[in-house]
Amino acid sequence: MSEIRSDYLVIGSGIAGLSFALKVAEFGTVNIITKAHLDDTNTALAQGGVAAVISADDDIESHVRDTHIAGAGLCHEDAVDVMVSEAPRRIRELLDYGVPFDLNMDGGYDLAREGGHSRYRILHVADETGRSIQEVLIRKVRENPNITIYEEHMAVELITDHHVLNNLQSAFNICFGAYVLDERNEDVRIFRADYIMLASGGASRVYLHTTNPNVATGDGIAMAYRAGVRIANMEFVQFHPTALYNPGNPPFLISEACRGFGAYLRNGSGERFMEKYDNRLELAPRDIVARAIDAECKSRGDACAYLDMTHLPGKKVLSHFPNITAQCREQLRIDISKELIPVVPAAHYVCGGIMTNLNGQTSMHNLFAAGETAHTGVHGANRLASNSLLEALVFAHRAAKRVIEKKRNIFNNVYIPDWDDTDVTNQQEWRLVRNNRSELQTIMWDYVGIVRSTVHLNRALRRMSTLYDEIEDYYRRTRINKDMLELRNLSAVAYLIVRSALRRSESRGLHYMSDYPEKDDKFLKDTII
Ligand SMILES: Cc1cc2nc3c(=O)[nH]c(=O)nc-3n(C[C@H](O)[C@H](O)[C@H](O)COP(=O)(O)OP(=O)(O)OC[C@H]3O[C@@H](n4cnc5c(N)ncnc54)[C@H](O)[C@@H]3O)c2cc1C
Repeated sequence: MSEIRSDYLVIGSGIAGLSFALKVAEFGTVNIITKAHLDDTNTALAQGGVAAVISADDDIESHVRDTHIAGAGLCHEDAVDVMVSEAPRRIRELLDYGVPFDLNMDGGYDLAREGGHSRYRILHVADETGRSIQEVLIRKVRENPNITIYEEHMAVELITDHHVLNNLQSAFNICFGAYVLDERNEDVRIFRADYIMLASGGASRVYLHTTNPNVATGDGIAMAYRAGVRIANMEFVQFHPTALYNPGNPPFLISEACRGFGAYLRNGSGERFMEKYDNRLELAPRDIVARAIDAECKSRGDACAYLDMTHLPGKKVLSHFPNITAQCREQLRIDISKELIPVVPAAHYVCGGIMTNLNGQTSMHNLFAAGETAHTGVHGANRLASNSLLEALVFAHRAAKRVIEKKRNIFNNVYIPDWDDTDVTNQQEWRLVRNNRSELQTIMWDYVGIVRSTVHLNRALRRMSTLYDEIEDYYRRTRINKDMLELRNLSAVAYLIVRSALRRSESRGLHYMSDYPEKDDKFLKDTII
């Protein structure tokens, strides 16, 4: 089997992976692997922007305070301080790379304000900030002679001393690289490196409804978990209240700006229902609106709720929301100024992930993590809007600085065995993969979603254990491919979310338990697995 070597291996091509790669490429060779195309990322879908203290009317303390308030007591103070205070420098770098953040009439940055932020501090490029950042970073990595890009290459497993020494009791706890599936010919190759950066993004595809693209199957978290790396706070999953309901089609977010503009929420009988849940009606915070829609749908047996803008001036609706107008017309042939938009809450962001310190170092030597796959401690129990692109930038930078300073891996010539696929058979049970994936997503949606309870979580755990065993057994017997690997990773992530949720018998931030509706400071700590 051919072995592919570099000084640094980056798994993932979103903002975390590419910004890390650009920095370390000044000091060595870099291989970037990404399981689809370079721009198949959550990053490319980010609409709102990046938070940073830029305006003279803003200050570090208030961004720090807003982040802590959102995080409901679980944000790590040191991580938040680092992220907020280093933000302006990372934004300056993006500007130097060529990201064209919008300017206002006076030539200053057009800073927006989002829910939970007490000041105007969101830099954006119209409503396509992520796309713009992604394009600039892709251009830069393509230009860099020290960087080699492998698209349609999927990391299967981290290579650890378990593989190298064939000894589970080994005390080294080192990562040497990854086994990587070349999806075009289904070969598994060894990618070896001194330092490995896991920047494989989120895991919201574990739910039936999500705003995330297909790639967000939590592979990095699952691989790290299987390798014995510490994982934290997986119970905190952020649900966006309004994604377009159009099963089987690409996810699309219906911005909160619609409700800000005066849109109503209605149930399947056409009744407004928010007054039953919060006196701020449609303008209540994200998690409350998401819970209200979920409760309304579940109590009535409706598949979705509806967003109504038909009472608003039609021309203004169409001109304010050109992208939403176009998507609704394209996907559902709906004129949003005359018809209701079907919406569901959808899994949007995973606050937990692979535990790292302030330099992106995980609990395994030579293995770093950044971006949505990592848990740095900045989000606590709930992520403040537009802090995630920022977190990825700041901690990818710090990880790059750290690995550049480190000595080379002294074990970099150790023998790594080839991927062993003797005694496996070709896949014959396609239906098993497809059916198990949708069963898993449905269990997660029904029992581990926006409103949870101990009874439901235990029910989910029982059903998931059976699925987990079945999937592991199938994995061991069958030649691997992308669909099967994703299913395996999703089942590990689902298990981590349920286990973590069961450990938190309280309601805090994004984790709402109907049998423990209050906060309980006995649980004022991270859930670590
Ligand atoms: C619709 C939407 C809107 C958002 N809006 C905002 C916003 O306005 N502001 C904000 O701050 N955040 C926003 N977010 C969140 C933010 O976009 C993400 O948290 C952030 O982009 C994550 O970046 P990342 O680099 O960690 O991961 P990603 O950008 O998701 O990149 C992950 C990469 O890893 C690759 N990968 C995954 N598994 C493997 C594997 N096994 N092998 C190889 N490659 C793999 C993927 O293919 C992908 O290239 C939004 C998210 C969504 C979905």
